[in-house]
Amino acid sequence: MARALETVWVFGDQLNRKIGALATAKPETHRILIIESAGKIASRRWHVQRAHFLVTSMRRFALELEQAGFKVDYRKSATMRKGFKEHVAKFSPSQISVTEPNSYTARQLVASLKVQTVKSNQFLCHPDDYAKFAGDKKSIKMEDFYRWQRKRHDVLMDGKNGDQPVGGKWNFDEENREPPPKSGHDRWPKPKQHKLDKIDQQVLDDLPSSVFGKKPDGLWATSRADALVRLKYFVKELLPTFGEHEDAMLESNWHLAHSLLSPYLNNGLLLAQEVVDAAADAFAKGNVPINSAEGFIRQILGWREYIWNCYWRWMPEYAERNHLQAHRPLPPLFTNPKKTKMKCVSTILNGVNERAYSHHIERLMVLGNFALISGTDPQQFTKWMWNSYIDAHEWVMVPNVLGMSLYADGGQLATKPYASGGAYIDRMSNHCKGCHYDRKKRTGDDACPFTVLYWDFFLRHEKAFVKNPRVARSVRAAQQLSDVVELKKTAKKILQRLDDGEA
Ligand code: FAD
Ligand code: SF4
Repeated sequence: MARALETVWVFGDQLNRKIGALATAKPETHRILIIESAGKIASRRWHVQRAHFLVTSMRRFALELEQAGFKVDYRKSATMRKGFKEHVAKFSPSQISVTEPNSYTARQLVASLKVQTVKSNQFLCHPDDYAKFAGDKKSIKMEDFYRWQRKRHDVLMDGKNGDQPVGGKWNFDEENREPPPKSGHDRWPKPKQHKLDKIDQQVLDDLPSSVFGKKPDGLWATSRADALVRLKYFVKELLPTFGEHEDAMLESNWHLAHSLLSPYLNNGLLLAQEVVDAAADAFAKGNVPINSAEGFIRQILGWREYIWNCYWRWMPEYAERNHLQAHRPLPPLFTNPKKTKMKCVSTILNGVNERAYSHHIERLMVLGNFALISGTDPQQFTKWMWNSYIDAHEWVMVPNVLGMSLYADGGQLATKPYASGGAYIDRMSNHCKGCHYDRKKRTGDDACPFTVLYWDFFLRHEKAFVKNPRVARSVRAAQQLSDVVELKKTAKKILQRLDDGEA
């Protein structure tokens, strides 16, 4: 009797032939299991583009594997566990292997089943290596981790011994914080798009009616081939100007020079190594200036890997942290942008509805900042972002939202709260012109909610921050404002309006 095939179980965020257990699988000896869990899809109110992107990518990947000669059990089941059991009952595989999954819950599931776990190579720093790097240090600075990554992966390195950074410094941030240019807002080429096909339509037909947002229009690739087209396009057309206006926000241009590659990096259609290589190669050929190449590579080799490792170091307790005791229920404006007159917030939220995306500074310095200074519950805000963004996965959402954005971890990840008033948003965007509110005012009905709540935040949390060297000045400045009583009254009114869905 022929020996039963071995099974390689592939999760929906490991869609790449080079990842872990799949890398050594062969059509003659292995069958591939991919489970589409109806329970997971129906568990939340997802953005339609996010749900479509993840499911379509899985279905296309299964077809690609079949075309490569594999037998694929693409199993639609009520839950992952049930799908796994059904697979075992049907095929009695001689062995089942799986690459270490990317979420805490999935690792718990895998640990409770009889499967062989293969170490993951999906990231550029495995938690085992990070643990060796961290040793018994209590906190690790991203910058130190990034330099270590640059050296050991030999990226943008120079000098006799190859231990010096190309361009003479590790960090070109100073050149990358320019406000938006006054004109020429169409200078960045538009993102690539493709036509939807029958598979896309089938997935859309299968999604539950609870999804929200604008239906997909081909902005997000759902196959490796299309993701590679987007990588090539980014490196050629946008990477050369990535750095300069990286932190700028424009009403008339939502993408600027951002790569829009995070969804593919996060579900496996692209690998971090090939993205870093493509950028470093373009720099070596003289097509990209150092501030853009270094700025982009730092995001992937540094920030992304750092966040991944923070997740594994601190979970599962981390997801429940609420250091500042912020208990405001998610304000209605997040699910209905019509409920706000704040132009910065409504523009970005309309963009999220339109494409399940906004760029980093919009996430951190507008939406996250607003949730922070309004005292919004960190777990509710995380859940909203997780439901709404094309690139959201627990490992990346939780540290970025709870840690970087909301200071809910008490400073484990970020050494200061990223709180700012209207002045920052006015400097880095063109939203304030024509806004109902006046970003300079901190009292009165038309006072900018960011400006008012920024000061109110430091007054509310003066004890927590007065000894923090990075923000102590803001606390003292808040205490010395001439109109503290009036400002507090205005803050109270704004928070009431926010809860009533009228801010
Ligand atoms: P680019 O600006 O082109 O940057 C290049 C790449 O760098 C990104 O594709 C991403 O892979 C990586 N990167 C940069 N910063 C980070 C970071 N802080 N963490 C992880 N990767 C990073 N990123 C996600 O992938 N998924 C999320 O759910 C997510 N949620 C976020 C929530 C908040 C509140 C904040 C502040 C940041 C979040 N980020 C998240 C990080 C970052 O905002 C996005 O990775 C980035 O905006 C994706 O767009 P892009 O591909 O055009 O990025
Ligand atoms: Fe946002 Fe305030 Fe500027 Fe209006 S004035 S766009 S609310 S920062």
